[in-house]
Amino acid sequence: MTSSEKYLGFIKDLPAGVKLVAVSKTKTEEEIMQVYDAGQRLFGENKVQELVRKYEKLPRDIEWHLIGHLQTNKVKYVAPFVGMIHSADSLKLLKSINKEARKNDRIIKCLLQFHIAEEDTKFGLSREEVEEILNSEEYKKFENIEVCGVMGMATFTEDMEHVRREFISLKAIFEWLRKDFFAAQTQFKEISMGMSDDYHIAIEEGSTMIRVGSAIFGDRNY
Ligand SMILES: *Cc1c(COP(=O)(O)O)cnc(C)c1O
Repeated sequence: MTSSEKYLGFIKDLPAGVKLVAVSKTKTEEEIMQVYDAGQRLFGENKVQELVRKYEKLPRDIEWHLIGHLQTNKVKYVAPFVGMIHSADSLKLLKSINKEARKNDRIIKCLLQFHIAEEDTKFGLSREEVEEILNSEEYKKFENIEVCGVMGMATFTEDMEHVRREFISLKAIFEWLRKDFFAAQTQFKEISMGMSDDYHIAIEEGSTMIRVGSAIFGDRNY
């Protein structure tokens, strides 16, 4: 099956209200264009350099999301065009995003990334850390970022009940934040969770955005 056939089969079964971020990391511009021509406009990349290169070469009506870890000193490269940053995981990073967004006269949409997996290799905030950020005077002054929800990655395991529990915990964090910090902000509505192997479960547990690469583009050769 070609990527465009896989893509069309994939979106046919996607429930309304769940957005697909087609994760195109390591894929060529030609491969991305197959999925673009089949109708997809929202793509995700995890590396700044690769994202910028593809943004410059590919059609301008693509919405690009950064889904991978972001260093503060690299925010400036994506600030002019990025549609959403899924990986906001510190006050320092939010500060840098706010500053670069202001320079570009933009408001940049962000998701707060949480550490829900068992592995300590995965990035993300804890409940205590997010509370401290959202209560800080510095955060309250940011005018060029819009926090739209939460993001998380489950543990890499075959145990799907384990994965489900982690998605349930992310949904609970989302509900807590919405109630205690974002009650007046209707843009706080996204839960970015679910990848090729676990998006079914993520959708059952309330995902509004799935980030799917290999199920659409095929396996990656690094
Ligand atoms: C690579 C990646 C994905 C997609 O992974 P697949 O298993 O190929 O669907 C999703 N989210 C993040 C943060 C990624 O880096």
